[in-house]
Amino acid sequence: MVEQQLISRGIKNRRVIDAFLKVERHRFIPGGLKISAYADHPVSIGEGQTISQPYIVALMTEYLDVSESDRVLEIGTGSGYQAAILAEMSKQVYSIEKFLSLAKRAEALLQELGYCNIRIKVGDGTLGWQEESPFSRIIITAATPAIPPPLVEQLSEGGKMILPQGERFSQVLTLVEKQNGELKSELICGCVFVPLIGEYGYKG
Ligand code: SAH
Repeated sequence: MVEQQLISRGIKNRRVIDAFLKVERHRFIPGGLKISAYADHPVSIGEGQTISQPYIVALMTEYLDVSESDRVLEIGTGSGYQAAILAEMSKQVYSIEKFLSLAKRAEALLQELGYCNIRIKVGDGTLGWQEESPFSRIIITAATPAIPPPLVEQLSEGGKMILPQGERFSQVLTLVEKQNGELKSELICGCVFVPLIGEYGYKG
């Protein structure tokens, strides 16, 4: 997976590659679908949600440019795979999931795997996690029509956020940087994510 899907398509950051080599993706895929764990496409994880294709997880992680001192907020815990990758590379990960069932399963697995630097909360991630803000990095792993304003507020100065922004069935992966209180955006590529459903996302 790492050689054929990531390195051959241009993923270069050594810390991203090391995290992918370390985190066992099959642990995050439910029962009968484990055979697809390392395949080049998204996989169902229950509740109508999916874990993204490995390359997209790597691309988002590489653009997010995570360092050991970063406090990262993830919106959309899902299987917990992206959270584990981020936890390998940062100081602390905070992750919010809308579905209790997914949050519980991810939390139990991440604990079993020994991660002490990931906190998960159930709720509407479009509101962010005010008590723990600011965050130096934010990643939204579901499609949103616009950047939720609470997340802009909770991003620290000089911080970066990556998100799939656009229409419900077609988005653009977008990197946002906060500089002198203003947002600077870079469009990366087209993508398709499940929708972010919440107050500042899609309305159900
Ligand atoms: N990062 C995940 C993939 C997430 S798929 C992984 O590594 O497996 C997107 C997730 O966002 C789904 O689990 C979905 O339930 C969740 N989601 C959708 N709207 C949300 C919201 N408003 N707040 C938090 N999570 C949300």
